[in-house]
Amino acid sequence: MTFSTQTKDELAHIFPHKKCCQLAELSALIRLDGTITISPQHKVGLNVTTENAAVARKIFRLAKQVYNMDTEVRVLRRMRLRKKNLYCVRFNQQFLPQETNKHEFFKEIGLLGEDGAVLPGIKKSLVKKQCCKRSYLRGVFLGAGSVNSPESNYHLEIITNSSEFAQALTNLINEFDGLNAKISVRKKWNIVYLKESEQIVFFLNIIGAHQALLNFENIRIVKGMRNQVNRLVNCETANLNKTVNASIKQVENIKLIENTIGIDKLSPRLQEIAILRLNNPDVSLKELGEMMMPAISKSGVNHRMRKIEDLAEELRNSMNLKGKRLKKIKKPENY
Ligand SMILES: [Zn+2]
Repeated sequence: MTFSTQTKDELAHIFPHKKCCQLAELSALIRLDGTITISPQHKVGLNVTTENAAVARKIFRLAKQVYNMDTEVRVLRRMRLRKKNLYCVRFNQQFLPQETNKHEFFKEIGLLGEDGAVLPGIKKSLVKKQCCKRSYLRGVFLGAGSVNSPESNYHLEIITNSSEFAQALTNLINEFDGLNAKISVRKKWNIVYLKESEQIVFFLNIIGAHQALLNFENIRIVKGMRNQVNRLVNCETANLNKTVNASIKQVENIKLIENTIGIDKLSPRLQEIAILRLNNPDVSLKELGEMMMPAISKSGVNHRMRKIEDLAEELRNSMNLKGKRLKKIKKPENY
């Protein structure tokens, strides 16, 4: 089960207590997943389709609770595409109480504006109260949302089919301090999304997905620690490689001096460090400095190593390919 499905399962089982919130959530679900149908007999109907059985049950229950409406749930098996079942909640022709007409219902649920035209945004009165805002956003997420597992990149999105609705939804989300939802356009879809992990956690909290939030945080912490450990390991490996590479070069230089003019020709302070290095090829400059009597700093060691390097360079330059000395070099004790 994906992280997204887990989150939706949790949210599908939250049932708002207040009537205002029930209406808000039902309205969001219908807005995102609903289709108005017209039968051959010109009867208007409404279908709400979802991939999630728990969400279908929730729509059924909300319709019953808010409107005392009986709806019918049908399972549509999709054989070819992802092979997931689709659940269709049908508000059929007899779905409204006699005294209300469908027009009023569509207005109340926010599909039509007061003027009777299609309402592209979000009906204000549905999301007036804080409690209803949360319920509406929960409905929106259940209807068209998804969230990546924090193991991959941080991403939560809601897919909408209209730019006006996407803008209204973005404004609603961003009414909450700390949230900064944005819109991106993918083909004919307007996608409202959140990117940062803190914002996703906050959004999950607003819509009541507390278990999902905890799981998200746990994975995020483990991931954060793993990244930190990796960074440290990489850093240490890099330092170790640097130490080893530098040491190989230093040992080469010292051996060259040993085989040409002899280490005893070096000044005493260079001699000491050269012998220490030959005996301890795998320690850092700092550690080498600590072995000296008296101890010297890393930059002191570095300074002496550079002198050894200069001398070795001069020795190399003074030799022909066969290793025979061609010219005189500066006296080693001057190094
Ligand atoms: Zn409410």
